[in-house]
Amino acid sequence: MNLDSKIPTGPVQDAWEKHKFDMKLVNPANKRKFKVLMVGTGLAGGSAAASLAELGYEVDAFCFQDSPRRAHSIAAQGGINAAKNYQNDGDSVWRLFYDTVKGGDFRSREANVYRLAQVSANIIDQCVAQGVPFAREYGGQLANRSFGGAQVSRTFYARGQTGQQLLLGCYAGLSRQIDAGNVTMHTRKEMLDVVVVDGLARGILTRDLVTGKIERWAGDAVVLATGGYANVFYLSTNAIGCNVTAAFRAYKRGAGFANPCYTQIHPTCIPVHGDQQSKLTLMSESLRNDGRVWVPKATDETRAPGDIPEDERDYYLERKYPSFGNLSPRDIASRSAKEACDEGRGVGPGKRGVYLDFRDAIARVGEDTIRQRYGNLFDMYERITDESPYKVPMRIYPAPHYTMGGLWVDYNLQSTIPGLHVIGEANFSDHGANRLGASALMQGLADGYFVLPYTIGHYFATHGPDKKPVDADHPDFARVEDDVRGRIKKLLGVNGSRSPASFHRELGRLMWDKCGMARNAEGLKEALQRIPELREEFWNDVRVLGSGESLNMMLEEAGRVADFLEFAEMMCLDALTREESCGGHFREEHQTEDGEALRNDDAFTHAAVWEHTGEGSAPKRHTEALDFPNVKLATRSYK
Ligand SMILES: Cc1cc2nc3c(=O)[nH]c(=O)nc-3n(C[C@H](O)[C@H](O)[C@H](O)COP(=O)(O)OP(=O)(O)OC[C@H]3O[C@@H](n4cnc5c(N)ncnc54)[C@H](O)[C@@H]3O)c2cc1C
Repeated sequence: MNLDSKIPTGPVQDAWEKHKFDMKLVNPANKRKFKVLMVGTGLAGGSAAASLAELGYEVDAFCFQDSPRRAHSIAAQGGINAAKNYQNDGDSVWRLFYDTVKGGDFRSREANVYRLAQVSANIIDQCVAQGVPFAREYGGQLANRSFGGAQVSRTFYARGQTGQQLLLGCYAGLSRQIDAGNVTMHTRKEMLDVVVVDGLARGILTRDLVTGKIERWAGDAVVLATGGYANVFYLSTNAIGCNVTAAFRAYKRGAGFANPCYTQIHPTCIPVHGDQQSKLTLMSESLRNDGRVWVPKATDETRAPGDIPEDERDYYLERKYPSFGNLSPRDIASRSAKEACDEGRGVGPGKRGVYLDFRDAIARVGEDTIRQRYGNLFDMYERITDESPYKVPMRIYPAPHYTMGGLWVDYNLQSTIPGLHVIGEANFSDHGANRLGASALMQGLADGYFVLPYTIGHYFATHGPDKKPVDADHPDFARVEDDVRGRIKKLLGVNGSRSPASFHRELGRLMWDKCGMARNAEGLKEALQRIPELREEFWNDVRVLGSGESLNMMLEEAGRVADFLEFAEMMCLDALTREESCGGHFREEHQTEDGEALRNDDAFTHAAVWEHTGEGSAPKRHTEALDFPNVKLATRSYK
């Protein structure tokens, strides 16, 4: 597997400028000759589709929802980072770069992260121009707030609905291009495979989710913007439809999958409240700007939170990490919550919760100000729990939220299959082993608005002239279609006794227990034994009702669960092989005396990239070495 990262030579500050100049261009008149198949129209895919069409390329865009506006991106609450330094509090491109590399526990590519920090400022300008209603100060300047892992305020936000507002802006741009005839939008179509012809990605296969029709689509490049795989845990903060199918099918056609074990467990979610729950709800990290996290000092505490005096409370983040306090990064805050609950000091049913308390902030700035800042989040919390956070502290607990792993891409955002580009949460690129809050929106929009539009042109300019025309009648399309149809038939034919959801729930519980917030070799080995058994049970006993020729949500679900059942094994293998703790990957065997992650830089300063070697055979692990000439490798400390 060729893992040439194509990082430009020279100083990191100049890399992107130099690269933009070095890349070949496509003549404006020739752009319309190239067709891009954009799979996914969340913030990453939507911004890329609009930008590419604006440049003159022909774009066919696909999503499985009934509108791009329903992509999971719409759920993003807290904000988007950018190094504008409006607060004059010491921010800079270099500081955002530094914070992101450190936040990722030195497991990301410096050059990519620097570029991300550089273009972050352009994203805000672009979105403001589209009319995104970011919060503003009294004088009209865009407002900022703080997020975890940073000591400056660089997070732009639109109350607790930043993703929604960004997506509406992006959708306006996309709609303009749909109207102009440059983007053809295909909703309710699920990509089920990639077609590779003569080593280049040349098409996809989709299933129409309303009619069941299997369709072939040919193009000059394929872009996957299909989001993350946190739903491998079944319960997560992601939308229920989020899945790994597109990325996993691409992996099976030759795309390397990087760092699947890097998953983010978000510290502030509403705790699980029952066996039949199918979804968890995030309480945005922005709340930690004003909320103080604590648990009772005593293990046998039964009093209501308001009755527990100050000196009997443990504000454990403030105690353990005085410099960053409640704004410690997510991996650290999550593990600390788990630790407090493991010690028996948790609160609420089952004692799996900690308090997020606004009492002091309300006393300091008043309820109205807190309502202005977080009103919709407080309302959401109250609707779900029937408790008002204005009166009693929220109860929160960590939950699966985001996935840093994804398809491997080079500096051009191209996977190991030439012509297959991957953007947004679906790729592995910029966050290393832990993503900082408000950096996912930044990365998705950087990829879509400002990086891919350059790099895909370079691909066309270098691969275009000598490429044979390929249409959907090519025999390779027929072969892939046979595979897709065969798989659907197989799912419908098992006719067993268990629902796909029951397998998903069982897999999720196993992954949470053995490959969740903390992992160890023994547990991972158990999972690696159980997952293939569970997969076999699935293929012998799953029951999918209905047919393939119509709307069949059970069939959709079954296909996604089948992919999770294979993917989970690779995730555990990756976690087992990475004999160190870094960021969200916490191996219990590798920790410092005070319970912090202990990296092994000598052996693991690399991205692990998995290659599919055929059905039934173990994937092969490759590595891309990571260098840190600019941000010195150091033990991450937020104390
Ligand atoms: C509750 C919540 C709050 C968050 N808040 C923040 C925040 O405040 N700040 C921040 O930076 N990040 C936040 N994040 C993370 C961030 O929202 C996501 O990482 C980001 O929106 C992902 O965007 P995306 O475009 O890569 O993927 P998505 O928005 O998930 O879009 C995926 C697209 O791919 C399509 N798709 C997927 N599979 C297929 C297929 N097989 N065939 C066809 N189409 C397919 C879908 O239809 C969709 O259009 C939050 C995440 C959650 C869960």
